[in-house]
Amino acid sequence: MTEVSTRVDLALLGIRVDVPVQRRSGAGPSDDGHVLFGGAGAAIPLRPESPYTIRADRLLYEGTDLGVTVEPVRRPRFYDLRTADGVAYEQIARLHGKDVLATTVVQTCIRYGEDQRCRFCSVEASLASGSTIAVKRPDQLAEVAEAAVRLDGIRQLVMTTGTSAGKDRGARHLARCVRAVKQAVPTLPIQVQCEPPGDLATLSELRDAGADAIGIHVESLDDRVRARWMPGKSTVPLSDYRAAWAEAVRVFGRNQVSTYLLVGLGEDPDELVSGAAELITMGVYPFVVPFRPLAGTLAVDVDGAIPPTAAVLEDVTRRVAAELRRADMLGTDQKAGCAACGACSVLQTAGG
Ligand code: SF4
Repeated sequence: MTEVSTRVDLALLGIRVDVPVQRRSGAGPSDDGHVLFGGAGAAIPLRPESPYTIRADRLLYEGTDLGVTVEPVRRPRFYDLRTADGVAYEQIARLHGKDVLATTVVQTCIRYGEDQRCRFCSVEASLASGSTIAVKRPDQLAEVAEAAVRLDGIRQLVMTTGTSAGKDRGARHLARCVRAVKQAVPTLPIQVQCEPPGDLATLSELRDAGADAIGIHVESLDDRVRARWMPGKSTVPLSDYRAAWAEAVRVFGRNQVSTYLLVGLGEDPDELVSGAAELITMGVYPFVVPFRPLAGTLAVDVDGAIPPTAAVLEDVTRRVAAELRRADMLGTDQKAGCAACGACSVLQTAGG
């Protein structure tokens, strides 16, 4: 089995261990444990039925040592701190992968009604469980970021947001948060993630605030898939995404803009790869990740959705990684963000 196949298998089947750094529900992929797979950060689903386990930092498949080092990420020291008003730092931002601080600055979303919500999303579930707070204030984020850099060697910050009702779709609060963090830790690279803002000038505001990279996440380029899986979000037409990506590349630079593309929503794999190639031509990094059925999402609780097959995930990932290499556009060249982290995707293992 190649390293890429093993990483694909792990992304789909998960591991049967308890690791110190985990994420339960939230925006984007979650219910995962953070490990170092051959030294690189990897967010792997935690599954008691998985054939994979870790023993003495080695990956075992049904008891057989695969010769791959997999080390759990240790619990960061900043998790033990609280703000003066008693909020645990862990409720404000969390460690992702090996050295990424990640936060959802507004944990609610105007699209969270059952008929509007993205069917794979559980952004408000972590709020309901008490593991986070609804709105992170700029000064709270600055305090946590400073401590995480000082105590745990954090190297980048990812700030996402639920979508707000305003025309900026939440980008203005992101800008305020970026400004505060940059004042506290000027050298910490920051990626912001939001929907295409109604006014594209907001992208310059984010850049002026100090954001180094941006993710504008479409999840699928197929309008039928979008309507079925993201009834609320798909009301923003793809043309708005294209305009926002183009402006973001102008403002942030080539390969400092990214978007998620989920594999396994029923899209045509060839169309996904050709759509990814078009994004790469625009200077946008297509962050290809497997769709993961998570308990507490409509995809699982109502639809009974299943993940993609390993063959499809590996094929799509390898082809998109090859396109990225051809364009000399690597995830590790992004200053911050999911493409730079890479833990939720197999792209970096495949050379993208
Ligand atoms: S890829 Fe993004 S969501 Fe996944 S662990 Fe890294 S920063 Fe977090």
